[in-house]
Amino acid sequence: MLHRSISDVKGVGEKLQSQLNDLGLFTVEDLLFYFPHRYDSYEVKPLTELTHNEKATIEGEVASEPVLSFYGRKKSRLTFTLQVDHFAVKAVMFNRAFAKKQLNQGDTVTVTGKWDQQRLQITVSQFKKGESKSQEPIQPVYTLKEGVNLHTLRKVIKTALEEFGGEVPEILPEDLALAYKLPGRTQALHQMHYPETRVMLKHAKRRFIYEEFLIFQLKMQLLRKHNRESTKGHIQEYNNNELTSFVQSLPFELTSAQKRSLAEILKDMKSPHRMNRLLQGDVGSGKTAVAAIALYASITAGYQGALMVPTEILAEQHYHSLAEMFEGRANVALLTGSIKGKRRREVLEAVEQKEIDILVGTHALIQDEVVFQSLGFVIVDEQHRFGVQQRRGLRDKGLSPDVLFMTATPIPRTLAITAFGDMDVSVIDEMPAGRKPVDTYWVKGEMTNRVLSFIQKEIDQGHQAYVICPLIEESDQLDIQNAIELYNQLSAVFEPKVSVGLMHGRLPNEEKEEVMQQFSANDLNILVSTTVVEVGVNVPNATVMVIYDAQRFGLSQLHQLRGRVGRGADQSYCILLGDPQGDVGKERMRIMTETNDGFELSEQDLKLRGPGDFFGKKQSGLPDFKVGDMVHDYRALETARKDAAEMIMENTLEEDERYKTLREYVYRDKHLLGNVLD
Ligand code: ADP
Ligand code: MG
Repeated sequence: MLHRSISDVKGVGEKLQSQLNDLGLFTVEDLLFYFPHRYDSYEVKPLTELTHNEKATIEGEVASEPVLSFYGRKKSRLTFTLQVDHFAVKAVMFNRAFAKKQLNQGDTVTVTGKWDQQRLQITVSQFKKGESKSQEPIQPVYTLKEGVNLHTLRKVIKTALEEFGGEVPEILPEDLALAYKLPGRTQALHQMHYPETRVMLKHAKRRFIYEEFLIFQLKMQLLRKHNRESTKGHIQEYNNNELTSFVQSLPFELTSAQKRSLAEILKDMKSPHRMNRLLQGDVGSGKTAVAAIALYASITAGYQGALMVPTEILAEQHYHSLAEMFEGRANVALLTGSIKGKRRREVLEAVEQKEIDILVGTHALIQDEVVFQSLGFVIVDEQHRFGVQQRRGLRDKGLSPDVLFMTATPIPRTLAITAFGDMDVSVIDEMPAGRKPVDTYWVKGEMTNRVLSFIQKEIDQGHQAYVICPLIEESDQLDIQNAIELYNQLSAVFEPKVSVGLMHGRLPNEEKEEVMQQFSANDLNILVSTTVVEVGVNVPNATVMVIYDAQRFGLSQLHQLRGRVGRGADQSYCILLGDPQGDVGKERMRIMTETNDGFELSEQDLKLRGPGDFFGKKQSGLPDFKVGDMVHDYRALETARKDAAEMIMENTLEEDERYKTLREYVYRDKHLLGNVLD
């Protein structure tokens, strides 16, 4: 049994057991599957094959007596010449004074360290006397905590492999393993810990990556199937005539992508299973319009609807636009944290009495005091900003309402099939006709004056501009200070002819709303703001977006900000002011100037930032894969997804005897399914 305690492994006493526990290792299985996070290679290479700054291992003869010098407090440097073929390499060792005694002119040594190509120098981190043959070529490196050292851990794993390795079950059916030429599980396990060659290690990894992705995909897809089949949702019998009349009242014709998404949503609403759908589309692609139509459908079916958004400004905006759209058709109300006292009680009362059809708000919507009479449809905008608890809270409110998540961050396919594998997805991949792509420029900081005169020119033509101030991470306070400073600066430059407004998160709500209304009404020409205008805000007359210190923002965020302009018929401009130091920053600026396509951009962003960072702090809901990497091993993920879908669709997972062990594995960690569920 692999579930036995690690204390059953020979040589693991109480102390070591508790140290291993600290690493999260409790069972023999935990130990066997505690994989190295990287592998160092000590393969000796000829100098001609080394690249600059690489960690390299070379072999040669000590050609000069090592010289030891001291500097600073207790710091030392040992240098000698290493003759490698016909090259004289300078070897430097820091703080290894003891090595002087061990190394003598004429000795053959193998050293590993950082290679400096220009100076033919190696900064030695490890050395061994003698030729390299005695060394293991590939050295696994494990994540360790204080207490256990590498040597001990390797020894324990070795013992465990010898004692219990034979009990490790094969969980993949044979035909799959054969089809992909994957090594057996036990064999692969050995290679992960004691790789014989690079090639064998590669195949071992390939095996575990596939296995890991497959199990994850199976869980996600089972969950999705479960959601579809067993959750009893409402059958929303919406009124087709009323819906058509509403759609016709809109000042535009829906794009075909909007129509397609809407049809998918309506089909979910009509069916007895509960909708769990993600609607994604670039900023301005018309998601809100689709959502509004779906909300209206739910109302004609006799239900109430809710729209939950991440910020108060956005809640207010949505509230105003929905109230206008639904004028004479439905009652819309706003509920945010700052609606208090009597007004709040009135809204709550009206919601409970079903005098309100649609409630728009921030997460205030999911507080206990809000009671809907018949909540049938919930829309969550910018879903990744909502934590798990909030989502669950909303779901618990009604009698299992249909839930539609909307996001304007185009999610790279890679992430979509992973993070949202349990959801149905609709994509609006088409912009309303007549939209002109925003012209984007990257401008260095010293050009600020020219940027300001450009703003003036646009304002002279009756247009408006946003100016976004630098982002100070983790500090609201500094953000606001920045905004105020920039506001003062620009006021001094532009006023009195041009009016400048200020917007930031800490303004009292009435003020925020007033500023937004002034800007909407073109009473303000320039709006200086923190990133609070990032999502959803819609002022079609604004044609300029200037972003200070643009290098501080992520690509997706820059794209979101840019999406605030280009919403009307006029040509719009986005100006990125910034002097990025690093390559990543420069790359971001370049990508922004080259593409307006949110999906392409998000793929690039993912590559630059990695999946963990993509959705921002901890809210990602992304799984923590042990071996696989969603971006790098994307193709394996795709394959696993297809295979999982097939196993579930054809019921092989449930019924085929050859899939029994795999099935047990998938169902074993029920809590993992729970995690995914949210
Ligand atoms: P999103 O929520 O995806 O950012 P919105 O639904 O807010 O996009 O739409 C952005 C702007 O485009 C709004 O002013 C909206 O009225 C308008 N719009 C939406 N759909 C269309 C369409 N099919 N044709 C023209 N304009 C549209
Ligand atoms: Mg929107």
